[in-house]
Amino acid sequence: MMRYADGMDCIFCKIIAGTIPSKKVYEDGQIYAFADIDPKAPVHILLVPKKHIPSLAVTDPADAQLLGQLQLAAGKIADEQQLSGGYRTVINTGLDGGQTVFHLHLHLLGGRQMHWPPG
Ligand code: 5GP
Ligand code: ZN
Repeated sequence: MMRYADGMDCIFCKIIAGTIPSKKVYEDGQIYAFADIDPKAPVHILLVPKKHIPSLAVTDPADAQLLGQLQLAAGKIADEQQLSGGYRTVINTGLDGGQTVFHLHLHLLGGRQMHWPPG
């Protein structure tokens, strides 16, 4: 049984609260977006719900609006970052998915040619 961090010891909850510094890119009532500390592309932004949700695997229909807002915010930020040639959005889920921080987040990657399949 995996133990999920709760808000008290979650690194992204601390970033949202401002107790760990971050380079803010966007914020609204539900979402906070900031630069990834270890960027994998010229633009690498993480969008997180302010509500602590450990992963996509534990979302339910009540989260539909929030998940939609995350995607829409990613598109808006991509426009602001002038990623007119395209970009990639990724949600890594669980250990097999490569998730390392168990607070749901959407990666927005751009500024270079992406490859497929991902590693
Ligand atoms: P995951 O591997 O869970 O999909 O993505 C976690 C991401 O969080 C990684 O890309 C990693 O570089 C980023 N990250 C981890 N710790 C921090 C941090 O303290 N600050 C920021 N800005 N990004 C972080
Ligand atoms: Zn959290």
